[in-house]
Amino acid sequence: MDLKLIDEAVAAYKKDASESDAARLEFFRKLYEIQQNRADAIAAADGYEPLPERDGDQDYIDAVPLLSQRSCPIDPTEFAQTCSDIAQHMADNAGLEDDVSKALRTLDWSDFCNKADLEKAGSMPPLFVEDCLRSFDDFGVDAAVPANIFMMVVSFAIRAHIQDVAAKAYAAVSDDAKTGNHARPLVCPVCGAPASLSVVESGVGIDGRARTQYCGTCGTVWPFDRLRCGVCGTQNPSHLHYFHIEGDSAHRLLNCEECGQYERVVFEEDLDKPLVNEVEDVVMARLDRVALDPRFRKETAADEK
Ligand SMILES: [Zn+2]
Ligand SMILES: [Zn+2]
Repeated sequence: MDLKLIDEAVAAYKKDASESDAARLEFFRKLYEIQQNRADAIAAADGYEPLPERDGDQDYIDAVPLLSQRSCPIDPTEFAQTCSDIAQHMADNAGLEDDVSKALRTLDWSDFCNKADLEKAGSMPPLFVEDCLRSFDDFGVDAAVPANIFMMVVSFAIRAHIQDVAAKAYAAVSDDAKTGNHARPLVCPVCGAPASLSVVESGVGIDGRARTQYCGTCGTVWPFDRLRCGVCGTQNPSHLHYFHIEGDSAHRLLNCEECGQYERVVFEEDLDKPLVNEVEDVVMARLDRVALDPRFRKETAADEK
């Protein structure tokens, strides 16, 4: 993560943000700083050799997440430290109930980190989080901390531990596999998580505007098709529609009639702020509320097919 760019984008958004949006931006700015500091301290990518006996290009083309073939090592003691740093920040700044904050401050993460399958956290992070939520009671966590808050801390911590290895694994795949005449991966080609957001870049690509997917779980950015549903993969243009809130064409929802899902898409050429995926991920959250609005398909949004 580029903390300097993140600072610039956050400062630009804070200028005309409501008090609560500004607090949210500030919360994530600090979280990214903690994640980056921990990633630097761990230096997990040192000594990691991606896919020694496998053809990374073939895995990429076959949509086999790269980390699933060679896990990113996660040390339980280091992971507990990262969770503790993030929990401290959440307790102080996430606006949680007092009893939850108090429990987060004193929580001992080493027990969870020793019991949990961290090999899975470093190879298939979305499945790891699902598994932990399913068997949450087995971890004997202080009842004052709800499972979703606890796992939010863990998810944020995973990014710090895998992002450098993810970058290394992704860099080991050839450009031909990434941009050649093959189907683009629907989920993150490195960790298997669904894309957090999508960016239509200005002025590059064959048709002038290339599109990329961003994975908030590991930080990977990968090339994607200009008009295609990032959830089900359909390329039927009559089933794909863009919507945006009036006055903000930089942040759009791509709604898919085939699977009924939507994606958050940033249009770079309409954006008057520095484009930083980590910050856009925070800013786009307000569009999720629009997507849940039953009027979404009718009155609140302008169709931009
Ligand atoms: Zn990923
Ligand atoms: Zn779809």
